[in-house]
Amino acid sequence: MDSPPSHYIHPKLRDDLTLSTAEISHELRTPLTSIRGALGLLLSGKINVHTEQGQHLLHIAANNADRLIRLTTTIEDDQMVAQSLLTAAGLARLRLEKDLLQAWDSRDFAVYYQPIVCAKTHLIQGFEALIRWQHPHRGFISPAEFIPIAEELHLIHDLGLWVFEQACQQLAHWQAKFPRTAPLTMSVNLSPLQLLRSNLAHQVTAIIAQYPVAPGSLRVEITESTVIENPIAIATLQALKASGLQVYLDDFGTGYSCLARLHELAVDVLKIDRSFVVQEQWQMIRGIVELAKSIGLTVITEGVETENDVQQIAALGCHALQGYWFSKPVIASQGEALLHGQIQMAA
Ligand code: C2E
Ligand code: CA
Ligand code: CA
Repeated sequence: MDSPPSHYIHPKLRDDLTLSTAEISHELRTPLTSIRGALGLLLSGKINVHTEQGQHLLHIAANNADRLIRLTTTIEDDQMVAQSLLTAAGLARLRLEKDLLQAWDSRDFAVYYQPIVCAKTHLIQGFEALIRWQHPHRGFISPAEFIPIAEELHLIHDLGLWVFEQACQQLAHWQAKFPRTAPLTMSVNLSPLQLLRSNLAHQVTAIIAQYPVAPGSLRVEITESTVIENPIAIATLQALKASGLQVYLDDFGTGYSCLARLHELAVDVLKIDRSFVVQEQWQMIRGIVELAKSIGLTVITEGVETENDVQQIAALGCHALQGYWFSKPVIASQGEALLHGQIQMAA
């Protein structure tokens, strides 16, 4: 069999054929390198398909069958082939993957900040950091669309830490400019995948050490309660808590969660999902708040959009509120203007 062009072969695999199965998996972790590597090794005949490694490789290639086709779009000569074989949605998705990787190289992202206000005073007690991607042709792309792709490409680890660092830097700046008895807080969303990396707490602590943020003022927001049952995720959460971070459970009420277990595990704060407010399920919110308080958890209600929402929620006993009624997520300078505005109101 003729050797394939060398650019089909992932460089590390081309040069080192003594890698273990685990190392191969690591090298083939993104779809593009996976296909390149699998194609290269199998076509070159350098790995026997009947060995454990060969079977593993075949498995990877099979799992990425549609992506095998998509890979051809990275090779200019074959672009026509790819276009005729791919569905419009497949092609759009592949373009988005490529654009996302490119956007990461040039850091075409911004972090927006949405205030979280005290339920009693409506004063800003902190912010949630929310990533934005300014796509050159499509404009802003929602994180709900690109975070799952970043997860699939395993870009989420670097991207997540980047958001964390931006948020830390911004918080240090705001805490210095707006000193408070209870310092301003900042929460950053973590993907479940990030929690499965056992060195996450170490990386996060290293970032925090670079910025003069008040101890205990950073929070992480996590979602899936199922992840909390994973031993690595539990250990990571505990390590994060040991370094002084609080843990918020986001979108509470959308999945199955056992309150008592969450408390046992590490969660400090529940964020009641926006859907309860949209559906005006005030009694349900009251119930969750009472239960949460009885085990010492703090409650934030999300998605507060109207004056009626604010009035209804006022009597329910939540500690803090977040939503468009107070502010949409905004760029840092607008966040700062909101903080200035509150000082003037208080004066
Ligand atoms: P989330 O963590 O639940 O964030 C709250 C989302 O609700 C944000 O959408 C926010 O703009 C929106 N929101 C806030 N108040 C209101 C309101 O009153 N009404 C309505 N309709 N929406 C409101 P966004 O920024 O588009 O983010 C969507 C999701 O993407 C987030 O949901 C979060 O799961 C994810 N995400 C955003 N940034 C990051 C990030 O840096 N890392 C990770 N892993 N995920 C992120
Ligand atoms: Ca969140
Ligand atoms: Ca949420």
